Amino acid sequence: MKIVRIETFLVPPRWLFCRVETDEGLVGWGEPVVEGRAEVVRAAVDVLAEHLLGQDPLRIEDHWQVMTKGGFYRGGPVLSSAVAGLDQALWDIAGKAYEAPVHALLGGPVRDRVRVYAWVGGDDPSRIREEVTAQVEAGFTAVKMNAAGRTPPMTTPAQTAGVVARVAAAREALGPDRDVAVDFHGRFTVAGARRVLGELGPLHPLFVEEPLLPEHGHALPALVAASPVPIATGERLYGRAEFLPALAAGIAVAQPDLSHAGGISEVHRIASLADVYGAQLAPHCPLGPIALAASLQVAFATPNFLIQEQSRGIHYNKDADLLSYLVDTEPFRFEAGHARRTTAPGLGVTVDEAAVRAADRTGHSWRNPVWRHPDGSFAEW
Ligand SMILES: [Mg+2]
Repeated sequence: MKIVRIETFLVPPRWLFCRVETDEGLVGWGEPVVEGRAEVVRAAVDVLAEHLLGQDPLRIEDHWQVMTKGGFYRGGPVLSSAVAGLDQALWDIAGKAYEAPVHALLGGPVRDRVRVYAWVGGDDPSRIREEVTAQVEAGFTAVKMNAAGRTPPMTTPAQTAGVVARVAAAREALGPDRDVAVDFHGRFTVAGARRVLGELGPLHPLFVEEPLLPEHGHALPALVAASPVPIATGERLYGRAEFLPALAAGIAVAQPDLSHAGGISEVHRIASLADVYGAQLAPHCPLGPIALAASLQVAFATPNFLIQEQSRGIHYNKDADLLSYLVDTEPFRFEAGHARRTTAPGLGVTVDEAAVRAADRTGHSWRNPVWRHPDGSFAEW
């Protein structure tokens, strides 16, 4: 079997899909994207395709080695995301070739359903109580929310109290048997994060995510040691080597993104590395259906898995949502806040190719907002 064609599709709301076709008619799909830089990743996929065309798609690990190391320069979000999408497509082909779901090829299922959470509150969180109540009524057992919008280097007492009040509102609507995860989104300074984390302990968040920017990772060990709340991070880390110091710092939850951190191949290895440190896996996935399908395949085969992000109804999904490009939406019909294990070959989803080709003709130019503090200086989004 040989790879004969590789195409990419820029589809709303902000995604990039890739389609890898073989001479035997098997087709694999992947989602190589960096949100806000989709066109750049598309160019990287085109360059990596030069290596894959004419090759046997089943040599996934060898292709991963060449794609990540064969260009001498390595890593970073763009290259790692391009590799990730192509890696997903190769696993999809492998599953179809061996007539097995990807999780069977990763060692077989270790669970029958995967807990997923829903987003509430948007970029600049508001209406928390109403939105949490709606998700509870939809059956979810966990939600995630941003802690705050624009965040100054040092929050005032009122701003700190605002963060606590929003999480408290979520906790009240959830009760003691469900979970709220809080995303700091890298908006806090080291000192700012430490102060707010100390206040959140009594509300028992599932975890606090990205309390620090990746470039402040050197401060992570002290922050973890001082935090009453489990710390999660990893959506802006792109491989095992970048997760190692975070895990050694004592994070509780590793959050690699299946579309950023080298795909199924590398996230499966990151999960194994996390297990050595007693950390759980909770893949980042505010993305599309192929990234989520890849995430679920890893979740079904990963013992130290905690919970899965998914983008249904997320504030980014304008013009299209998680189910827009699927022939059969059944794999993402969540029951009691869980996705059931799929047994279909490959990634377990059937992409609506006609819808994808039509959407690519429109494309998108999604960019995240660039925020400013009241004094006009740059603010983390
Ligand atoms: Mg996040």
